[in-house]
Amino acid sequence: MADAIVSESFSQNDRRYPQKKKGGNMKVPWISKERIALKATELIKNFQALAGYTVKPPIPVEDIIERALGLRLLYEDLEKVFGSNDVLGATYVESGVICINERLFEHSSEGRLVFTCAHEVGHWVLHM
Ligand SMILES: [Zn+2]
Repeated sequence: MADAIVSESFSQNDRRYPQKKKGGNMKVPWISKERIALKATELIKNFQALAGYTVKPPIPVEDIIERALGLRLLYEDLEKVFGSNDVLGATYVESGVICINERLFEHSSEGRLVFTCAHEVGHWVLHM
């Protein structure tokens, strides 16, 4: 795929936090916490209207990606895609695809997997 991407990396020094991949081609403006919360609430309301039920934690992030946003969600070996073993997820802007590193299914990384999905959703909702 040759369109603009946003990707997240495992940090070499601190694996708790993702970092923007060096050479990333997207500048993102600062957005207040209040605006982010408002957009998240709007998205959940839209999803609830589509799904016909009230969303409670754990938030069905994968369903929201596919049903509310109409994006394709893929799990891939991003080491092969990027030639680097530290990419967590990527959003392909023009083709409307979110790719998550399938390695996050390993090592009890479910929380990191869901977080990465939600993080990519944030890019889509806040910066597209
Ligand atoms: Zn990001």
